[in-house]
Amino acid sequence: MKFKIISKGDKRSNKIKSTIKQYLTDFELEYNREEPDLVISVGGDGTFLEAFHRYIHRLDKTAFIGVHTGHLGFYADYTPDELEKLIIEIAKTPFQIVEYPLLEVIIRGNSNEKEDHLLALNESMIKTAEGSVVFDVKIKGEHFETFRGDGICISTPSGSTAYNKALGGAIIHPSIEAIQLTEMASINNRVFRTIGSPLILPKHHTCLLEPKKDKSFLISIDHFTRTYHDVKSIQCRVAKERVRFARFRQFPFWNRVRDSFVADDKE
Ligand code: NAP
Ligand code: MN
Repeated sequence: MKFKIISKGDKRSNKIKSTIKQYLTDFELEYNREEPDLVISVGGDGTFLEAFHRYIHRLDKTAFIGVHTGHLGFYADYTPDELEKLIIEIAKTPFQIVEYPLLEVIIRGNSNEKEDHLLALNESMIKTAEGSVVFDVKIKGEHFETFRGDGICISTPSGSTAYNKALGGAIIHPSIEAIQLTEMASINNRVFRTIGSPLILPKHHTCLLEPKKDKSFLISIDHFTRTYHDVKSIQCRVAKERVRFARFRQFPFWNRVRDSFVADDKE
């Protein structure tokens, strides 16, 4: 089995990286940057997002695991205390795989046929540098509303605990194949009206955002943001690709939610 380790870059994460690398090499596993079967991220959820995007071109062949060196993360959910056990488990392979849904975003331009296909593990946000965004929101080809406001966040179930949560979105269990649309400061008065509530769309229900006036947007995919000019439409749906996690022990999603957001004092 081939593996690769991505560290956050701080002293502690680098040290853990070299320990894991040393032990796994001693177990005769091969360190391979190009075609790893297992990618181990050491740091936080941000480090995990970087690891995911680095191997996004071969998701079907890559399993991911996250060790946290800061606070408990949603993707980085193994502790440095578990390292020894984890290394032995990895060396024993094959391991169990758990898959989570991803968000597919297709950005189409007005002037050319070019399409940008993107995948997000957490979310995509559509905003503008100044003023408010105005677009028609279509769901399954039907006009749903005209949105005016700061922007829209479209998140995955595993991303529902990230930015989506700060916007008042629901936390969705990642076994549910869905995406969630949350509004960012929508304008609501007698002239403009939006639904106001987060929307959860099942697989195959495509959401299309069509700009009404300005065609330039700031579009983020997880931790990257880019400016797109002359945008004709932004299409979002549950991706056919999935992210694969290597699983060595149980740590149910709701326990992660509790331990991250609610007190971790157990009765
Ligand atoms: P960051 O500014 O360091 O991330 C903000 C926080 O979100 C960090 O504590 C990060 O954990 C955490 N986080 C990331 N993914 C998460 C998830 N799926 N569930 C719960 N918490 C999560 O930037 P970053 O580390 O590059 O991460 C980018 C992500 O941060 C974005 O995709 C966005 O969802 C999120 N974010 C959230 C807010 C907000 O809640 N208001 C603001 C900006 C960004 P670590 O410390 O372990 O990295
Ligand atoms: Mn971070």
